[in-house]
Amino acid sequence: MITTRKNRELKEFNSFGISAKASEFIEFDCKEDLKEIFESIGDKKWEVISGGNNILFASNWDGVLIHPTMRSINTISESDTDVVVKVDGALEWDDFVNWCTDRELWGAENLTLIPGYVGAAPVQNIGAYGTEVKDIIESVEMFCVESRKFLTLHNSHCQFGYRDSVFKGLLKHAVIITAVTFRVSKVANPQINYGDLKLKVEELGGATIKNIQNAIIEIRESKLPDPKITGNVGSFFKNPVVEHHVAEQLKNKYPDMPVYITPEGSKIPAGWLIEKAGWKGSKDGNVGIDPRQALVVINLGGATGEEILKFAHTIQKDLKSKFEIEIEMEVNTL
Ligand SMILES: Cc1cc2nc3c(=O)[nH]c(=O)nc-3n(C[C@H](O)[C@H](O)[C@H](O)COP(=O)(O)OP(=O)(O)OC[C@H]3O[C@@H](n4cnc5c(N)ncnc54)[C@H](O)[C@@H]3O)c2cc1C
Repeated sequence: MITTRKNRELKEFNSFGISAKASEFIEFDCKEDLKEIFESIGDKKWEVISGGNNILFASNWDGVLIHPTMRSINTISESDTDVVVKVDGALEWDDFVNWCTDRELWGAENLTLIPGYVGAAPVQNIGAYGTEVKDIIESVEMFCVESRKFLTLHNSHCQFGYRDSVFKGLLKHAVIITAVTFRVSKVANPQINYGDLKLKVEELGGATIKNIQNAIIEIRESKLPDPKITGNVGSFFKNPVVEHHVAEQLKNKYPDMPVYITPEGSKIPAGWLIEKAGWKGSKDGNVGIDPRQALVVINLGGATGEEILKFAHTIQKDLKSKFEIEIEMEVNTL
């Protein structure tokens, strides 16, 4: 079924809690509806919104917002070692994580409590605690707007990178993800060598899948503001990846600066740079930086998208002048 609402208030559809309106908001509960929706949209500006946990409305959206609501999970195949499962795009990501951990199927547990829908997970290749969703994605089913056909893209063609994929690049505005197929493992594969995770898992009694999930839930709840109380989108900025010699020069100047060597270059935590520059816990009008987590921009109440963007640009400029490093926003601005 397709439901269209005009002039829809979006406050409940974005975790920043920003008040903005969409000229048209179209919900659909069957992937075939997309053909009819795109026949009716014509030349109007459109965008997909799933849970709205990584979207910043800079102003009212003068166009169509398309919102999927299909939520089924279907097991495709099962062997002695793994299970292949196809999940509709609008299932809550954490419901899928729980589905896996309840069955002791490994691979999604470190990504617990990341807010959002399954269909949005491949877009920025969600990641946390040393793992990324690309590690368990088999393929992505998508509706191609131009051809009005459904295609399935194998993982190897998704161009997954750090908070990146082909869906943020070449296929942005060309496709809508309708389902994701995952391969999760029956064989235990604990990934706990990240930060304080190992210690917490040991405190809970060892590396079972539920202990790992519960440890991550505890750590996340103690470190990240709850968007239901304080509007935010998790990490607002991406960690910059710079050439190794640039990181080395900075390390000489700031010996306490953490640097992670990756195949793409040296990754520097943006949170460290923001904190070092003195922004952690700072406030400007209705916007601020979380006092516990420097990477998280928060809505202190009543902030507009414009205010948040202005604040973020000020930080970007300041870091550029202090460290000669450009930090990119992770959030999608509409
Ligand atoms: C408190 C908090 C903590 C977070 N922690 C993490 C974290 O640890 N790791 C991490 O990676 N992210 C994290 N995030 C960011 C966010 O949870 C993820 O980006 C998540 O995947 C967003 O899902 P969503 O359904 O809300 O997507 P939305 O915000 O609705 O959309 C995000 C982007 O994907 C596009 N999109 C959405 N659905 C589709 C679709 N079906 N087809 C095509 N394009 C689509 C949208 O147009 C938009 O550009 C956090 C956010 C919050 C608020």
